[in-house]
Amino acid sequence: MSRIKRCPYCGIPRDFARGNVWNDDGTITQARNPDHRVFFYEADGLDKLFARVEELVGLPLDRIIVEGKRKGSLEYIQNIYPGYKRALLRAFRGKVYQSTADIGAIFGLGHYELLEFKKREYIKVYCRNVYSLSLFSGDLIAVFNFVEGIPADLRIEEKENGYVVTVARGKEYEELVSRLDMERYPIKPGDVKHERCPQCDVPLDLKEYAWDLEEGVITDTVTGRRMVFTGPREIDAIMHELEAELGEEIGKTIVEAQRLYIKETLQQAEFERSPQYLFRQFAKRGMGNLVSFDLGDDGMRAVVENAIVPLLLTGILQGVYELVTGSRSSVDYGMERDGTFHVEVKPAS
Ligand SMILES: [Zn+2]
Repeated sequence: MSRIKRCPYCGIPRDFARGNVWNDDGTITQARNPDHRVFFYEADGLDKLFARVEELVGLPLDRIIVEGKRKGSLEYIQNIYPGYKRALLRAFRGKVYQSTADIGAIFGLGHYELLEFKKREYIKVYCRNVYSLSLFSGDLIAVFNFVEGIPADLRIEEKENGYVVTVARGKEYEELVSRLDMERYPIKPGDVKHERCPQCDVPLDLKEYAWDLEEGVITDTVTGRRMVFTGPREIDAIMHELEAELGEEIGKTIVEAQRLYIKETLQQAEFERSPQYLFRQFAKRGMGNLVSFDLGDDGMRAVVENAIVPLLLTGILQGVYELVTGSRSSVDYGMERDGTFHVEVKPAS
């Protein structure tokens, strides 16, 4: 049985409700670190996205994806724990590695158990139902890098419906100290109206998500799809790493892979339910404030304020357009200097 407590009114894990804030501007931010945004996304969507990008470029990308996620997650951990706390964490490293399992379960990252660890040498965990083996590996290496202060190598073995992952002292690489150089935009106020739980204040829309805290799985009970809660900067860090290794053109490939995923996975009926569906989905997931979505014979124009993961957003909007209209399209997108994101989709001529 999981030790994690839930809100008696809405059933959302208490630590999850306390740790995150749904704002009226389409963002979700962490209570302890309001500069850090978080969002929900289909777990499958991220994994399939990278598999599809691999297929499209014809190269194995696992190493780049693990490294991108590691950098993004390490930056996140460094931001929440200043230097003096790091020393404290080291003194209780066993507890830190163990509590990471609880946080992971709340975020829908999967089930993990700490098997063994040795100070400044290695950690060994058993995991199953992880949201993505590459992304999970990146997260685990980042925790190890941070707690032990040393670089690491990874070994993965299959075991009993899951994996044993060993993160051990590895070779020196300069990326450990390099910082991610990604743009941050100021947040624009919005008027997203969430109906909230009277006890824990999370949007009641989240009642559609079911948490299996033992397995670390969040399921959208309406669509049946598995969801994961992660940081946009961590996902952008992977995009960044892919661009650095493969060139800027990879952006188009990511949009294309995302368009294909949306068309394969989402159902037209989801968008026919109500015109507000798409707006609500953006705000509930923390992906930004979809301030306009105009669909006409000559195409679709959408504006998203406080947008995150722009390449995913573009693929989503293009995929939705094609689902709703049944026609193929071309897409243009761009971020303004103030962080307002525009997507324009035109029917293919
Ligand atoms: Zn509640």
